[in-house]
Amino acid sequence: MSSLLVSQPLLFLGKNLPFAEASYVVVGVPLDYTSTYRSGSRFAPNAIREASLNIESYSMRVGIDAEDLPISDIGNIHITQEAKENIERISCVISEITSSRKIPVILGGEHTITLGAVKGFKKRNFAVINFDAHLDLRDEYLGNRISHSTVMRRLFEEGVQVIQVGSRAVCKEEVEFAREKSIEILTSHDIRSIERKGISDKLLSSLSSYDSVYISLDLDVLDPAYAPAVANPEPEGLSVSDLLGIIRDIISEKTVVGLDVVELAPQYDFGNTPIVAAKIICEVLCFIEKLRKEI
Ligand code: MN
Ligand code: MN
Repeated sequence: MSSLLVSQPLLFLGKNLPFAEASYVVVGVPLDYTSTYRSGSRFAPNAIREASLNIESYSMRVGIDAEDLPISDIGNIHITQEAKENIERISCVISEITSSRKIPVILGGEHTITLGAVKGFKKRNFAVINFDAHLDLRDEYLGNRISHSTVMRRLFEEGVQVIQVGSRAVCKEEVEFAREKSIEILTSHDIRSIERKGISDKLLSSLSSYDSVYISLDLDVLDPAYAPAVANPEPEGLSVSDLLGIIRDIISEKTVVGLDVVELAPQYDFGNTPIVAAKIICEVLCFIEKLRKEI
C-alpha cells in the first residue's frame, strides 16, 4: 500500500487482514485544520478504533458479526499543512483502494476529506448522500474555498450529484444555491414528520438514475443527545435508530461504493460519540455484507 500511510497501534475491530484479502478497507484521515468552532477531529480515527474494540460487533438486525468481515485497517494518511496536497494524498490512497474494487471506510477528520475521497474514484457514476445537519454548500468560508463548510459545493461543481439528508442548520446562500441547482434536501423535520417508508421512498426516487451511492456521514446529523462530541453540534437531529433505518433502506436498493464518518471531536464527551460512530460503522458494514451474500 501507499507510502502516504502511517500505521496505528490500534486497529478497527482489531482487523489487519492483508490488503489483498480485504473487501472493506478502513483508513483514518486525521485532518482538522479548517475547523472553525470545536477542533479536534484529528483525534477521531483512533477514538473510533478504540471504541470499536470495546463494543459488541454482532448485528442483531442482520445476523452478521462485523468482526467476521474481511476488513483491513491500513492506518492513517499522513497529513500536511497544505490543503491541496492533503486532498491529493487522500484521493491517491482512496484510488488505490477503489481500483482494487474494495470499499473504503474512511474515518475523518473534518468533512473536507470527502472531497479527496470522492476524487479517488475513477468512475463517478454514483450519488453522494450527505447525512449532515449542514448543507456544506457555501462558496467560501472565512476565506477558504476548501473547507468543511464548502465541501458539498466543490463536489457539486465537479459534476457529482449530492443529496442532503437531516439538514437543519443552513444559511440563505446555501438554500438559494440548492434551490437553483435542484439539490434535494430532506430536513430532520421532514424525517420526523413523515413515516420512515415515505422518507426512504422519497430518497430512492431522487436516486433513481443511480445504481450506486457514496455515504458521507457527518455525525452532527445526529441529535447532540446521541452524539454530543462533534465540531458543530446542532439541536433537533436524528436518532441513531432513524439514521440506521434510512441507511439500511438505501443499502437494500443501491450499491455502496464508499463510506466516510466525519466531524467527531472526541474530547467533547466521555466516550459516547466514538462508540456511536463505531457502532454505526459496524451495522452499516453488516448491512452491506448481508446484501452481498444474498446476491
Ligand atoms: Mn458537514
Ligand atoms: Mn455538519
